[in-house]
Amino acid sequence: MPRLSYTPGDYDLRVGRSATGLGIFAEQDIPKGACLYEYVGPQLTKEQEEKSKSKYLFEINARKTIDGTVRWNTARYINHSCRPNCEPNIYKARVYIHAKRKIKAGEELNYDYGKAYFDQFLKDICACPKCAEKKAAKRAAASRVRAKTVTKAAKKTSATKKAKKTKKRA
Ligand SMILES: [Zn+2]
Repeated sequence: MPRLSYTPGDYDLRVGRSATGLGIFAEQDIPKGACLYEYVGPQLTKEQEEKSKSKYLFEINARKTIDGTVRWNTARYINHSCRPNCEPNIYKARVYIHAKRKIKAGEELNYDYGKAYFDQFLKDICACPKCAEKKAAKRAAASRVRAKTVTKAAKKTSATKKAKKTKKRA
């Protein structure tokens, strides 16, 4: 990847309805590596961070955490995905959101919130394509097991019927 810029570019992005509430959508094609947002908000001390109930905390390093709840932090609308098209990058103790790959007009922006956040808040409800595929595969496997059980039961029934018929004849 070429050297990243850390000045958010003037891209056509909008806040809109997404599967999980609000999200940010590209209104134009965006090249890989483009700087889209700085993730902004007041800086919290460790003590404030521990007391905070914000779900928009972004830990930059051991000493610095940003609370991205504030309204002017548009990047807070970017949803999580386990297969994201964006990624946060820390530069000079600030956070920037870059396009991880080329993004097509109409696509929703997302980035990986990280394992700790995922395990705490998203594990069972993540609706990203990767988790949807996993859930579909699980469902398919479960229904295959059910189908097998049903077939076995059906065979058993017909076998019993046959046995009864044979008995009658005898
Ligand atoms: Zn997921």
